[in-house]
Amino acid sequence: MRVKILGSAAGGGFPQWNCACGNCRGLRSGTFRGKARSQTQVAISATSKNDAGSWYLLGASPDLRAQIEATPELHPQPGKEKEGIRQSPIAGAVLANADIDHVLGLLLLRELQPLRVYATDSIRRILCEDNSMFGMLQRVPGQATWTSFEPGIAFPLENPGGENSGLRCRALSLGTHYPAYVSPRRQSELRFGEASLGLIVEAKMVESSSGKRLAYMPAVPQIDNALLQEFESADVLLFDGTFWSDDELIRIQGSGQTALQMGHVPVSSAEGSLSRLAGLRHPRKIYLHINNTNPMLNEAGPEYAQVREAGWEIAEDGWEFEL
Ligand SMILES: [Zn+2]
Repeated sequence: MRVKILGSAAGGGFPQWNCACGNCRGLRSGTFRGKARSQTQVAISATSKNDAGSWYLLGASPDLRAQIEATPELHPQPGKEKEGIRQSPIAGAVLANADIDHVLGLLLLRELQPLRVYATDSIRRILCEDNSMFGMLQRVPGQATWTSFEPGIAFPLENPGGENSGLRCRALSLGTHYPAYVSPRRQSELRFGEASLGLIVEAKMVESSSGKRLAYMPAVPQIDNALLQEFESADVLLFDGTFWSDDELIRIQGSGQTALQMGHVPVSSAEGSLSRLAGLRHPRKIYLHINNTNPMLNEAGPEYAQVREAGWEIAEDGWEFEL
């Protein structure tokens, strides 16, 4: 399986358009030792390097257009297929939640392109039944094919024509909060377990074979033993690095919610991910979905050093690996 990290920041990106925190100001003025980042976006493919094939997006970020242009593997290759000049190696997307910074990019993929979109029934209803703009993905027959899945049940990733990609996905139910734009009445009709998911992706053609495993966990509200076991069986763990401390936003902007209230376990503190995941032996551990306020973005700072010394990496846009 090939994995490309097209974007690694939390919602708003880094720098964020309306933010004058120390990180954002420093980055704009050129005095910051660290990198700009676009909003979190991961793409996966079962094909090996130098082999053109289908790609699947985990979520669809608001920065998707620029992220696609920055990634040659995702460019259309005219003449190779019968589709003509309008075609794409992007075969589908798997949605982990209905957050705007996770689904807005779907609207950027609307140019009558066939696409398979995997979502829980609850997330599909929010997008397709309550938000008429998403109807632009279904203007013609065979454009977006919405395919439902349930947390806990593995499903194959298939292209719009139904061909198996060789990748299988299984969702873990992590959070129970729907985005604030979902009306209370609609929320009362939805299943809480379908609100916010982690995704386990495996490269294997049949159920009996064991393939390499990627864990994609951009929003983790708490870490329990079952989750620790899932992580230990992963080869690469992409984990929620949104906030360094629980009160980070409140300290920096004077008001707001804690990290935990927003559904993100912080990196630091006794109950934070750095400490709770310290015992993991098997997976390569990478933080992504990093908020612009997070001090570990500063490569000259003690937080960055602490994370790296603990064996973690901090994802950057453009990273790629094979597993
Ligand atoms: Zn900022």
